[in-house]
Amino acid sequence: CGIVGILGGGDVASGLIEGLQRLEYRGYDSAGIATVADGRLDRRRAVGKLARLREVVAKDPLPGAVGIGHTRWATHGRPTTANAHPHTGLRVAVVHNGIIENFARLREALTAKGVRFESETDTETIAQAMGQALAEGQNPRDAFEGTLARLEGAFALAVLFEDEPDTLYCARRGSPLAIGRGVGASEGEMYVGSDAYALAPFTNRVTYLADGDWAAVTRRGFEVFGEDGLPAKRTEQISDAAA
Ligand code: GLU
Repeated sequence: CGIVGILGGGDVASGLIEGLQRLEYRGYDSAGIATVADGRLDRRRAVGKLARLREVVAKDPLPGAVGIGHTRWATHGRPTTANAHPHTGLRVAVVHNGIIENFARLREALTAKGVRFESETDTETIAQAMGQALAEGQNPRDAFEGTLARLEGAFALAVLFEDEPDTLYCARRGSPLAIGRGVGASEGEMYVGSDAYALAPFTNRVTYLADGDWAAVTRRGFEVFGEDGLPAKRTEQISDAAA
């Protein structure tokens, strides 16, 4: 029920969990994070409170200076570790809030192509569709944009590709999503979050995506595309959410 992403200057696992903690007020049943380190995507997930996820990460640390995190409020599939986000496809990890209405049809089409699913969620369909697009030779950006065009429903997404660890892709249709820009000590770091509270531990420079937007975020800045697929300008605000 909450999303966080960080393009950091060092390991981001604890920052991701800190951001998720700011989203606890929305309620959740499980949580997880994924990072890319040394060209390899990896994740940790746990059912229950964020303290459980912290324990899992303490036992089995997750290095990496880029990552995405999620608190889940299950809509499709029970609250289990296998159903917790991030979900993965080939060389891609996805966190998602909301519902993909046409997931059953997408899942059938992917299964027919030989894709094997490991969860009961609507979300895994997004990850597997992007992974399949990569397998068919698309680059991450096209895989992201092409899959987005096939999704029906209301959602917010953050996506991390193993082969492009300097970029976080995100999109909003219905559910809110904001981009944060690091300043001062965190200059050069960028963040994605469900709202300004999630970003408050890191920055107060917040740009809200408009409904239907998607964005590619790097440490140098971000590009936003509107509902019509054309480049769009969104205005940065100074948030007063307490750090
Ligand atoms: N529909 C997704 C799931 O059940 C996301 C739920 C959420 O917004 O946390 O896993």
